[in-house]
Amino acid sequence: MSETLPAAGDPDSRIVLEIDALYRGSPHWELDTADARTFIGAGPSGGDLRQANWAAEVLGRSRVVDVNDRAAHLVGTLEGREEMIGRPVADFWPPDSQDDLAELIAEVVADRSPDATRSRDITSLLLQAPVLTVWRSQEAGADTVFVAVKGAMNDRRSYWSLRASEERYRKLIHHMPNPLLRVDARVMGRVFARLKAEGVVDIESYLDAHPELIAFAERSVRITEVNPAAALLFGARSPADLIGSVECLFKASPETARRVTIAHFDGRRSHDEVMKLRTLDGRLRDVRIAVTFPTPPEQLDVTVIGLDDLTDRLRTEAQLRQLQADFTRAARISTLGELATSIAHEVNQPLAAIFTNAETSLRWLSRDEPNLAKVVQLTTRIVDSARHANEIVHRIRAMTAKHAPECLPLDLNEVVDEALLFLRHDIESRSIRLSTKLGLGLPRVIGDRVQLQQVIVNLLVNSVQAISQAGTRDGRVELSTGLGSGGEVVFVIRDNGPGIPEDDLDRIFEGFFTTKDEGMGLGLAICQSIMTAHGGGIAASNRPEGGACFRLWLPAEPDPA
Ligand code: ADP
Repeated sequence: MSETLPAAGDPDSRIVLEIDALYRGSPHWELDTADARTFIGAGPSGGDLRQANWAAEVLGRSRVVDVNDRAAHLVGTLEGREEMIGRPVADFWPPDSQDDLAELIAEVVADRSPDATRSRDITSLLLQAPVLTVWRSQEAGADTVFVAVKGAMNDRRSYWSLRASEERYRKLIHHMPNPLLRVDARVMGRVFARLKAEGVVDIESYLDAHPELIAFAERSVRITEVNPAAALLFGARSPADLIGSVECLFKASPETARRVTIAHFDGRRSHDEVMKLRTLDGRLRDVRIAVTFPTPPEQLDVTVIGLDDLTDRLRTEAQLRQLQADFTRAARISTLGELATSIAHEVNQPLAAIFTNAETSLRWLSRDEPNLAKVVQLTTRIVDSARHANEIVHRIRAMTAKHAPECLPLDLNEVVDEALLFLRHDIESRSIRLSTKLGLGLPRVIGDRVQLQQVIVNLLVNSVQAISQAGTRDGRVELSTGLGSGGEVVFVIRDNGPGIPEDDLDRIFEGFFTTKDEGMGLGLAICQSIMTAHGGGIAASNRPEGGACFRLWLPAEPDPA
C-alpha cells in the first residue's frame, strides 16, 4: 500500500494534498519537550561518544501531547491513541530510529529560531525510504515540537503483526536452555562508520592508540534482554539485574571485549572464544561466548550473545590431563626401575674413567719431577668424564621429575640418542645388535623432550623383551629417522623378534593389553596418547621377513617464513 496521494492537476491543490499527507495522512506527533530541554541543556554537548543512554533519556523526557491515528496505528498501544497521550515518546518510537529522533529533537530545541526545522532519512521496518522531520511552529509554545514521518508502507503488516512476531521471538529466547543476551550495539555501528569515513582501516592499531574506545564500547553497548538461563549463569536474582551496559560481561576478560570490538569493526558475522566470566555474585566461570553481529543495515537487526558454561567440563578435562600426566610419569619411573642395571652401568663408565685418570695423575704428581703436562691432560679427561656423568644424572632426573609437558622445537635424532642412553648397556649385555640410521638435515619437531624419549625407550624395551623372550638368536634392532611423504618427521624401529600375532595388532594399543607374565599393558597405550597429544601418531605392523615394526610420526616445525 502506498502513501502517495493521487496527483491533482492544480499545483496549489497538490501542495495542499502533500501537506495533508505529511501532517495528517502520515504518522504525526506533537511532543512536549520541556523536560527533555533541561536534560539536553545540562548533558554533554556534541561529540559522538556521548553518554550511551542519551537518546533514551531525551525520548523518555519528551511526552506525547497529541498523535494522529496513523501514528497510533503504526506504533501505538493496542488501546489506541488516547492511551498514548501524556506518556513518553520513548515508549512507542521504534528502536531503529530512536537515536535519529533524539538527535533531531536536540537540534530543534537548541535552535533559537521560532520555526526551526530538521529532517533526515531514517531506516524503518515499516516504511520505505522514510524521512523524519522535526520542527517547531511559531503558534505553538517554545517547548512544543512536531514530528512527522513520510514514506510508503513496506507491506500491509501493521506494527501489531510485527510486534506479534517480535513477541514470538522473545518467547523463543526466553525458553531457550542456553544463556542468551540480546544486545543493542548500534551506537558502535555508527562510531565505526565514522572511523571508516575518516580512513581508519586497521582497527587494531587504532585501538592501541585509543584504548578509551573499548571502554566507551563497554559502557555504551547495552544488554536489552536476558533470558532466565543467562540470569542463572550470572548468579543474578532476576534477568533485570543484567539490563544495562555490557561491562559486566567482560570484567574478567578485557581482551575479549577488544577482540569482539575488532570483529564488529571488521564486519565479521560472528565471533566466538572461550573466556573467563565474573558472575554478579563474584564467582569465576569459564564460558564460550558467541557473538552474532547484525546483518547490515545494522539498524534493523540486533546483536545476540550466546554463552555456554564450560567450567565443569574444563575442570574435568584438567583433572583427566593431570591424571594422565601422573600416570605417564609413573610408567616412566617404573621403566627406569627396570632399566636400573643399564643406567647404573652408564653412570659407572665415566666414574671408572675418573677414578683411573685421577690415580694416574697422582702418580705423575708424586714423582721427583712431576710431569705437569701429563697431569693437565689427565685432569682435562677427568673434567670431561665428570661432565658426562653429570649429564646422565641430569637426564635421569628429567625422566623422573614431575613437570608439566613443555613443547619446544626439538631435533628428533637427539631425542633418539638420549633414549639410547638408558638402554645401550642392556642391549649390549643381551648380545642384541643395534643399528641406527638417522636422517640428516631433518626439520625439527615441536614436542616435550622427556615424553618423546619415553615413547622411544618404551618401544626399545618392547623390542628387546620380544627378542629375549622368544630366545631369538642373532637379535637385531634397527632404528631410523627420516622425512615422510607428507613432510612429517618419522621414526621407525624394527626388530627380528617373533612379531605381533595378526589378531593382536588392533589391540596392543589398548590399555592393559599384554601378553607378558609381568606386563602391565600400558606402555603402548601411553605411547599412543603422547603421540596424539603431539599431533602425530603411532602404528604397528609385522615385517614380511619376521619381527615387528613400529612407526612414529610428528608434524615438522612450521617454517617461520
Ligand atoms: P607390556 O609391555 O606391559 O605388555 P605394552 O603396551 O608395551 O605393554 O605392549 C603390549 C603388548 O604388545 C605386549 O604385551 C606384546 O604382546 C605386544 N608387543 C609390543 N611390542 C612388541 C614387539 N616389538 N614385538 C612383539 N610384540 C610386541
